[in-house]
Amino acid sequence: MRIFDPHIHMTSRTTDDYERMAAAGVRALVEPAFWLGQPRTSVGSFTDYFDSLVGWEPFRASQFGIRHHCTIALNPKEANDPRCRDVLQVLPRYLEKDGVVAVGEIGYDSMTPEEDEVFAAQLALAVEHDLPAMVHTPHRDKARGTDRTIAVVRESGIDPGRVVVDHLNEVTVARVAESGCWMGFSIYPDTKMTPSRMVAILQEHGLDRVLVNSAADWGRSDPLLTLRTGEAMLAAGFSDDDVDRVLWRNPVEFYGQSKRLDVSDLASVDATFEGNSILRGGS
Ligand SMILES: [Zn+2]
Repeated sequence: MRIFDPHIHMTSRTTDDYERMAAAGVRALVEPAFWLGQPRTSVGSFTDYFDSLVGWEPFRASQFGIRHHCTIALNPKEANDPRCRDVLQVLPRYLEKDGVVAVGEIGYDSMTPEEDEVFAAQLALAVEHDLPAMVHTPHRDKARGTDRTIAVVRESGIDPGRVVVDHLNEVTVARVAESGCWMGFSIYPDTKMTPSRMVAILQEHGLDRVLVNSAADWGRSDPLLTLRTGEAMLAAGFSDDDVDRVLWRNPVEFYGQSKRLDVSDLASVDATFEGNSILRGGS
């Protein structure tokens, strides 16, 4: 199984995780810029973080044979802090960098007027820089948050085929499918969305425009839940080709729209990688 994790916060993970991911077949990933737990109080804290997403973290990933890409944005939570607002001014220079494959995570946390303004401004940046957009949906009041997200995406004029709306569940998937946006699912160990629930959604909605990720952030999470979802798909009767489509070709197609994704050389190494069986037996 070759895996492209389209949304994983490696900054919060250890080298042990990189090692286990490589053994599980993870060959490439996208790390979206997000909050860091402790609130940031100045623009400089953001630029240091963005620099690590385009510099240090890709180097760390490369030591495990994993291709690292990122998305850059002012996240919805910190959009509410006036001390962080000038981050919008430094974004254009990061959005021109090679490893940056989308504007994100943008969207809503608490659905405040500040978040409205920052979300719309960053969708405009995505259009201007000809990049896809990676949109986070709130974990509270998800249905209303998702409806409002779709409305703002529509107003922005960005092609919905260049937008992924993430952290979906059974309640929100249909409205995003209908909008023409890509559907993102973050799989967690025991909350929000699990591999078996994900399989049921794939059975009902099909494999088109679906991205599955392990998020793996500061909360309780597991960077191998992409693999576990692939295994659950196979157990439910999906083919190897179906799994490859969801866990590899779909993220390549979506982030390939940035024209900055270079994973063509990675496709061939899959056959030599037999780490899956070790993990199945050993953990
Ligand atoms: Zn995230």
